Amino acid sequence: MHPRSDALTEEIRREFPAFRIRPKAESRLQRAIDVALKVLTLHGQNEYLTRYHTVLGDTLWVPTAWPESDDERRYVLLRHERVHLRQRRRYGTIGMALIYLLPIFPLGLAWGRARIEWEAYVETLRATAEVHGLAAARDPTLHAYLVRQFTSAAYGWMWPFPRVIQRWIDEALVEIAATSPPVGG
Ligand SMILES: [Zn+2]
Repeated sequence: MHPRSDALTEEIRREFPAFRIRPKAESRLQRAIDVALKVLTLHGQNEYLTRYHTVLGDTLWVPTAWPESDDERRYVLLRHERVHLRQRRRYGTIGMALIYLLPIFPLGLAWGRARIEWEAYVETLRATAEVHGLAAARDPTLHAYLVRQFTSAAYGWMWPFPRVIQRWIDEALVEIAATSPPVGG
């Protein structure tokens, strides 16, 4: 049962009528991207098909872990991915691709990608605070995970400055603490 994430999926569909969710493993392109990322990152990113969610056009491509994901996890993920759908509407498909993909060579210091992902990860923090409470959003384990997304091969070492990311997290949490409704509210 996934009442919360199903309701959010419906909400997203009202905003983006062509929105759909498909398994990555079914897509030849997604499998090709997986291979390319493994090569580019020397297997630093080898979980693209199994752990990562990717919006391309109106489709959210989900990893093999999706069927076992619980409702709250799906809900938080969908909040993150909705930000990417809105970014694409804001920048256009080509604009979004340019901002996101152009600095793939060389890897690292991909400022555009880092800002695109940061906006979405702020939503991850906000949704986590709403679903699980502010303490969960302040959990250092979550912060370490977020920092790794920026500093590791996960997204091609897009902004490899852990202290900068932690500062962004701390600033976002101040804002979230000031504006988030209480859990259950
Ligand atoms: Zn993202």
